[in-house]
Amino acid sequence: MRWFHFIKISLFLGVLFVAPGCCRAGVNAGQFQQYVVAFQKEAVKFHRDVIADSLTIQSGSLPAGTLALCTLGNGIPLITVSPDYWPKLTEQQREMVLFHELGHCLLGKIHENETRDVSGERAYRSLMYLHPLDIYDYSQFHDDYMTELFATSGPRG
Ligand SMILES: [Zn+2]
Repeated sequence: MRWFHFIKISLFLGVLFVAPGCCRAGVNAGQFQQYVVAFQKEAVKFHRDVIADSLTIQSGSLPAGTLALCTLGNGIPLITVSPDYWPKLTEQQREMVLFHELGHCLLGKIHENETRDVSGERAYRSLMYLHPLDIYDYSQFHDDYMTELFATSGPRG
């Protein structure tokens, strides 16, 4: 029966591997795939369907000082990440940067540069702040930033 057990485990792992719903055939995120999976996991908590039919995340050259960029040419979301900066970022900073760009590319958000939320509890109102790496209280208020990102509608909020 051992072989049968092995097959069951293999199937289970296979299911786990695709369970987050990431990604459809048109998603090509390469080394950045884990951030797309994490983004979609957060979205599911807010009952948002953000699974992309098409999305490319690539490493590529950008204008000086630009860390990452979302472009929607031809309607196909494309995120380009600077190979100069990416290796220097912490895991948390990488999430901040890619969640910000995915906010542009998959949620249609534009920049939100208010530096205080309504209650004044955290430094920035939104992860869509122009310079996401400045959001020094991201880990402390992670849930609040996720709520602002996914639970609000419209290009601003
Ligand atoms: Zn931006």
